[in-house]
Amino acid sequence: MTKFEGRTALVTGGSRGIGRAIVKALAQAGAKVAFVYQSNAQAADELVAELTAQNLVVKAYQADVRNKEAADQVVQQVVEAWGKIDILVNNAGIVRDTLLAMMSPEQWHDVIDTNLTSVFNFCQAVTRPMMSARYGRIINMSSVAAEFGNKGQANYAASKGGIEGFTRCLAKELASRGVTVNAVAPGFIETDMTVAVRNAAEAEIKKAIPAKRLGQPDDIANAVLFLASEAASYITGQSLKVDGGLTLGGF
Ligand code: NAP
Repeated sequence: MTKFEGRTALVTGGSRGIGRAIVKALAQAGAKVAFVYQSNAQAADELVAELTAQNLVVKAYQADVRNKEAADQVVQQVVEAWGKIDILVNNAGIVRDTLLAMMSPEQWHDVIDTNLTSVFNFCQAVTRPMMSARYGRIINMSSVAAEFGNKGQANYAASKGGIEGFTRCLAKELASRGVTVNAVAPGFIETDMTVAVRNAAEAEIKKAIPAKRLGQPDDIANAVLFLASEAASYITGQSLKVDGGLTLGGF
């Protein structure tokens, strides 16, 4: 029996990048996996086709994670289809980097709503079903930016710092019900999100990373799989950095 047989999972932002790797890893480990994407239907369709061809069970839902009603509907549809959601991975996220002096209210709200309000939307939607089931694994995608400031990322760092505080609070609220809530904080990962910064400074970035390489989406998926597993049942309210040592400091 594979590790996640009989489990169901919902992953936001599953069409590309880190979320796509998480969808694949969970499905290949035996879970039924639903994922949400915003607008890239082609990427979503390709992923469904690729995994279905491997006899894995995967469904794609187009929805805007900023929208509470949309989150409620997706959760309701997955629960109707599969009876439960055991694992929720709040992964959808965006950057709108710019110095604060130039930051528009739209750039602020887009990032806060997509990265942080979405976590409220989906966590609230799954909380009751998970509490009734006395089982759940919630994993929220943070970033090393939650702790380490970067110029031009006040909106992004605020959203990720918010996710980490939210994660600790919800972990306490749900611990007695068999539901764990943790965060994963990636460093520099090779996805569409980091194309611009990689084009500008890839060599410099690699020099700053003790592991001397950028992270791959699978590096993050592996951490998510561990936190979603039975083996992590006594870990809650934590944020796990997966960054090749980037944030260790010192010499
Ligand atoms: P990505 O390659 O840009 O993919 C973003 C995903 O989020 C896509 O599936 C996108 O859907 C979805 N999405 C964006 N806005 C959405 C919305 N309003 N509603 C529904 N779905 C939405 O990003 P990534 O690099 O994989 O990042 C994934 C997560 O890891 C983010 O939370 C990010 O902050 C975090 N992270 C990334 C890095 C890194 O180095 N890459 C580092 C630290 C943290 P479409 O395909 O439809 O656009």
